[in-house]
Amino acid sequence: MSLSIGIVGLPNVGKSTLFNALTRAQNAQAANYPFCTIEPNKAVAPVPDPRLDALARIANPQRVLPATVEFTDIAGLVKGASKGEGLGNKFLANIRETQAILHVVRCFVDDDVVHVHGGVNPLEDIEVIETELILADAQALENRMDRLRKQAKAGKEHQAKLAAAEKLLAHLMEGKPASSMPGSDEAAMAELFAEMGPITAKKVIYCANVSEDGLGEDGPEVQAVRAHAAKTGSPVVKVSARMEEEMGGLDDAERKEFLESYGVESSGLDQVIRTGYGVLGLISYFTVGPKEVRAWTIQDGWKAPKAASAIHTDFERGFIRAEVISYSDYVANGSEAACRSAGVLRLEGKEYVVRDGDVIHFLFNV
Ligand code: GDP
Repeated sequence: MSLSIGIVGLPNVGKSTLFNALTRAQNAQAANYPFCTIEPNKAVAPVPDPRLDALARIANPQRVLPATVEFTDIAGLVKGASKGEGLGNKFLANIRETQAILHVVRCFVDDDVVHVHGGVNPLEDIEVIETELILADAQALENRMDRLRKQAKAGKEHQAKLAAAEKLLAHLMEGKPASSMPGSDEAAMAELFAEMGPITAKKVIYCANVSEDGLGEDGPEVQAVRAHAAKTGSPVVKVSARMEEEMGGLDDAERKEFLESYGVESSGLDQVIRTGYGVLGLISYFTVGPKEVRAWTIQDGWKAPKAASAIHTDFERGFIRAEVISYSDYVANGSEAACRSAGVLRLEGKEYVVRDGDVIHFLFNV
């Protein structure tokens, strides 16, 4: 599935550093994904999943394929970008194609790295970016207004949409994001949202970029980011982008040692990837065999035939049924055969909604 998370933030906050770390994580897996075309502003990062490792220990396959999540480096977002400053509107085209936003916020203090607006002030930085995105949405909406007005004159059915557009524009002009627009579930507003895909309706993950010694207790900068994110219920991940970039070349054991030397358990980059996967509404099911153990990505809520299409469209077309074992049953019993005898292998049909962690064998006929 090609869902993507756009990385935004002011210049010099650590976006490229983080993106490089994601690219290294991608390259470490590249041999497993020979079919992936790699674009310079995209990183397809493997999703760390201890369940996959546990299944691999049981099945001992030739290869293990994790789920992935795609990140897009969105360059050129500066104050005035919606008016054409910096790289201007180029970033808008890139950001519109993404399904969620990773907003990198500078929380590290380093006099050698210039801050574009003078000092480290996460809330001010966040506001600059969020204002630009709101302005970009307002501009896009204004550009549509003429056509909407004409349509509303010509046909009654368009009047509700024009009214919705006017409401949304007024809302944006008050400096509020589309995500907080009341009535966005009403038909005309929903249609408008679907047509224009407002940037500020996308889910946001805040990434607080701290220095290595900021990874322990939260400093005032990170606390400020958390307080801001809490207002919209958005997740916050604390990361030292520079440390992640340095760790990129290490193997698992070395990484563990490196992390321990800073007193942290898991890498912030792993959390960024996992949180991104969750924010996109994605879950994984597994296939387990002697050749490969693999995580397949689907949208939460998909039924079995649709989920099967992640493997091959034939699997969906010719779907007969699915043999399903929950992850915990699989691990507890230690093999598919043992699960069968224990009676925990279920036969599921077309209406079955696949759950995160299901181990599945699809039966199909084409
Ligand atoms: P971008 O403009 O947002 O892409 O920022 P960059 O990733 O290019 O980073 C700008 C500068 O900040 C670079 O010199 C980085 O090495 C430095 N930098 C990034 N993350 C950290 C960090 O966690 N601590 C410190 N001290 N410097 C960092």
